[in-house]
Amino acid sequence: MLEKILIANRGEIALRILRACREMGIATVAVHSDADRELKHVRLADESVCIGPAASSESYLNVPAIISAAEVTDAGAIHPGYGFLAENADFAERVESSGFAFIGPRAETIRLMGDKVSAKNAMIAAGVPCVPGSEGALGDDPEENLRLARDIGYPVIVKASGGGGGRGMRVVHGEASLLSAIALTQTEASQAFGNDMLYMEKYLEHPRHIEFQVLADTHGNAVCLGERDCSMQRRHQKVIEEAPAPGITPEMRDRMSERLIRACQEIGYRGAGTFEFLFENGEFYFIEMNTRIQVEHPVTELVTGVDLIREQIRVAGGEALSITQSDLRIQGHAIECRINAEDPVKFLPSPGTVTQYHAPGGPGIRVDTHLYNGYTVPPYYDSMIAKLIAYGPTRDIAIARMRGALGEIVIDGINTNILLHIDLMNDPNFQAGGSNIHYLEKKLKPLP
Ligand code: ADP
Repeated sequence: MLEKILIANRGEIALRILRACREMGIATVAVHSDADRELKHVRLADESVCIGPAASSESYLNVPAIISAAEVTDAGAIHPGYGFLAENADFAERVESSGFAFIGPRAETIRLMGDKVSAKNAMIAAGVPCVPGSEGALGDDPEENLRLARDIGYPVIVKASGGGGGRGMRVVHGEASLLSAIALTQTEASQAFGNDMLYMEKYLEHPRHIEFQVLADTHGNAVCLGERDCSMQRRHQKVIEEAPAPGITPEMRDRMSERLIRACQEIGYRGAGTFEFLFENGEFYFIEMNTRIQVEHPVTELVTGVDLIREQIRVAGGEALSITQSDLRIQGHAIECRINAEDPVKFLPSPGTVTQYHAPGGPGIRVDTHLYNGYTVPPYYDSMIAKLIAYGPTRDIAIARMRGALGEIVIDGINTNILLHIDLMNDPNFQAGGSNIHYLEKKLKPLP
């Protein structure tokens, strides 16, 4: 059992981890940048350490500073949250070689799944359905690449094996632009990711984004907690997520769960993870795995009743998962709206002081946020400032509760995207469920 955890993150997820620790009787260490002294979890933590100036590169990404903070405070484990160092295999390795538990998978698993070509190969080997494409990396024979694209069938997408955050990929609609697209993507990839390995796959034109949550412990147990639909995206960033995904039947869910549990066991997975898929014409196609807790984890928590952060902590402490696959029931429906500090029309970040904050409430409403009256949102980090989550026995009731909560929440002093969320809750296409990943971008495009 872990006794003290260092939280290597900020904002709402740091607070979420702190709350789980408190509930479990585990002491907490907050590490923060100069700009984040006033963060809510820093005030609530048992101990706090300033690890550097505002710039993330010198604080939240500063590995030696984080390791020394764990040493001086005598923490037993480090929780990386999401973003920052959460999927950095070298960091996970440093944490463990310095004698701390890393709350996440083993470094070698992060490395395997962080490289998209090796991840896809591991999934093919485990019998998980993938997007048809090149088996492994592209070589440099132009004729061979042209032949490969012809076999896959246009449009194809050329992707960097080391890519992430929606960067390092290019859609190609016909033979004429294939070779130049490969050359461009390769140059970009070697500059941005220090790895010029590329692969090619079929470009799916109207897919939905559906992902499955898993948990695995070090005793050989793995469970799959169902799926989330995250198709409401702008610039590859998720805006709204929900569980379960509209139209996914219990049979489809069970079939995927069975395969993903097997995949976890085959790669020796540990902790919480997410398998992301594109879903088109009734079929799932694996695109990548996130080897960490995700922003949208609360919707899964609400429909399964499982506390994912608590399970992550249990697993890192060597305990067995507290649930088995046969215990799991998906009940009701949950929706999450990501509230960002941004201009509602141009989407530019809108940092500043929150002069008035009032939280919504009522049945089925959960708010994960570090906001309070007088808190100043700094300009240095991600613009997400709150997650508003609504649960109901049916999807319609969850939407109605979300609409009510969006009308109640008050965040004054800065701009937010709350109006966009209200608009989406009132949108008949959102209400019908099952929109594809291009829907929101199309909706936002001004009429000619
Ligand atoms: P990243 O790690 O950069 O997020 P992903 O592989 O998850 O990269 O892809 C990001 C997004 O790019 C997907 O959510 C999807 O919108 C689009 N995409 C990726 N591969 C394909 C594909 N084969 N067909 C259609 N869209 C794709």
